[in-house]
Amino acid sequence: MPADLPSIELTENSAAILTRRYLRRGDEGKPIETIDEMFWRVAYHIAKVEESYQQDVIEQARSFYRLMASRCFFPNSPTFTGAGTPLGQLAACFVLPIADDMGRESTGIFQTLRDAALIQQTGGGNGFSFSRLRPSGAMVKSSAGKATGPVGFLRVYDHAFGEVAQGGSRRGANMAVLRVDHPDVEEFVTCKTVEGAISNFNISVGITDAFMRAVQNDEEWELRFPDVLHPAYRNFHGTLEEAEKVGLPLRTYSRVSARELFQKIVQQSHHNGEPGMLFLDAANRQNPVPHLYTLEATNPCGEQWLGPYENCCLGSINLNQHILEDGSPDWEKIRESTITATRFLDDVVDANAYVPAVPQLREAALRARRIGLGIMGLADLMYASGIRYGSPEGQEFAAQVIEFIRYHSMLESIRLAEARGAFPAIQGSIYDPANLTWQPPQPLQPYQNDWGRPEIDWDAVTQGILRHGIRNAAQATIAPTGTIATVAGCEGYGCEPVFALAYIRHVNDNGRDLQLTYASPAFEKALVNAGIDAETRQEIFNQVMQEGTCQHVEKLPEAIRNTFVVSADITAEEHVRMQAAMQAFVDNSLSKTINFPAGATVEEVATAYMLAWELGCKGITVYVTGSREQVVLETHSTA
Ligand code: UDP
Repeated sequence: MPADLPSIELTENSAAILTRRYLRRGDEGKPIETIDEMFWRVAYHIAKVEESYQQDVIEQARSFYRLMASRCFFPNSPTFTGAGTPLGQLAACFVLPIADDMGRESTGIFQTLRDAALIQQTGGGNGFSFSRLRPSGAMVKSSAGKATGPVGFLRVYDHAFGEVAQGGSRRGANMAVLRVDHPDVEEFVTCKTVEGAISNFNISVGITDAFMRAVQNDEEWELRFPDVLHPAYRNFHGTLEEAEKVGLPLRTYSRVSARELFQKIVQQSHHNGEPGMLFLDAANRQNPVPHLYTLEATNPCGEQWLGPYENCCLGSINLNQHILEDGSPDWEKIRESTITATRFLDDVVDANAYVPAVPQLREAALRARRIGLGIMGLADLMYASGIRYGSPEGQEFAAQVIEFIRYHSMLESIRLAEARGAFPAIQGSIYDPANLTWQPPQPLQPYQNDWGRPEIDWDAVTQGILRHGIRNAAQATIAPTGTIATVAGCEGYGCEPVFALAYIRHVNDNGRDLQLTYASPAFEKALVNAGIDAETRQEIFNQVMQEGTCQHVEKLPEAIRNTFVVSADITAEEHVRMQAAMQAFVDNSLSKTINFPAGATVEEVATAYMLAWELGCKGITVYVTGSREQVVLETHSTA
């Protein structure tokens, strides 16, 4: 590692987490690298692929190192653990196809289970659509028996994954999706609350526009599946829509009330936070490669729609490190970080070793070269800028930031296409220069505020694509950043608001329950700047510690109260509107939870689901405070 590179500055807590999660260890379990050496290892191994593009590896590695060591950008955790190690698997998430077949096809149920287990061992999470599996009780010709059905096989998967620890330090995260018109959907909706519940999967119902309209109009809803006894079914591996196209008849298993089914889903989420909803048509309207596949599933946390065998390497710009002295966004620095980060992620596509035993993974990755650049610390930037998360102004602010990042990421992706070539599957995609159907993204509401953002010229992007194509079929994703935001020292994860301004965190320390107290540094700074003396500050913090929020603290100046909102201070509608405002500029998707206060009604949750669909969100996850028994992070009053 070059001696003149700067060291990273980390809090004690961040350094401890990083050491535990990311440092390479020798045979005795002791770290064999320092924190700075870890960053250099990652920077160097990603930059190494620049060799094949005739670039100076060391120079590029230095630039990647500076980007990470300044905490301006972190890739997802698997890149830290995998780069330059024998594992070499760098992506956080994958989607695998499951065909209605025990194993004859490479995408058969048990082939895919095997592929998924191999991916899990490398620290990658998996998403699956179970929608192509025939309903339980349907005929199985070869054995003249009755089919297990998607939920039965989901249990098989769940059990298998329970036994496979993920990449040593990372536990298996999985997503199961079932379409809302699948005959077994009602069993699926409740499968996590019944006995022998599924514990290694998040579950989401794949919702169609037709279903949402049927709910609005209080219509009947058909649960259907292709006729499995039809001769054409044996070689059919398509979606429900494709069955109709090839003339394979659909059999209606039952008719239900759309509203009652919707109510069932909402009720479960209200009690349990699950199932979530994934809006299939919204996702497919923006599918960049519709000539390759229809999108049917996402990764475990829902922010990444992927085709069969695709992965996405995620990375997040830390907005907390892009704040000017006066608290406003440092746009120029955001632009620079975006450019380097985009190049970094494009290099990761080549540097990733994937899982050699599942060759389809590399093939799919290189075909579309998807990257997922996002953010963390949005809430930090909003605290500093004095903008209330959730307010109309806050929605616009978030949209302006994301639009700016997406714009510069696309420009860089076009420059990379010019130098290295467009993604191989560009022909027939929405970015095909010979038939460009991609349209520049637009804000949900016309902008009304000026936060000093430099001008954006989307026409330059259109012209660039027409001339050079684009290097990456998808560019933007906002990840949960569960680990990296902690290491980077952000107060707000991903695009989420801050959870609590002060709280007690329970940490399991070798079986002992350790209680760590936390107080928001940004809040403390605002109190100091407002001239509030130390004694009063302590009083304020003591009060905030009880509730997590400062909204009831009388001694606070109004401007501070208005800015320093936490998740529970924001209404569900505001949460949804924030999500939709950002979604407009994110071509993949984003990880966001719609928080409800304890006591929220099922109707309120239903309204949020409907609003999310109407505003063009690609999915929705809700959480009603207190509805799940185990809460890791809790404020003092609920502890
Ligand atoms: N993920 C996983 N297991 C985990 C955490 C995350 O498989 O324990 C996957 C999952 O697909 C998730 C993605 O990694 O959507 C990104 O998660 P996050 O941003 O929290 O990861 P980080 O990079 O912060 O570790």
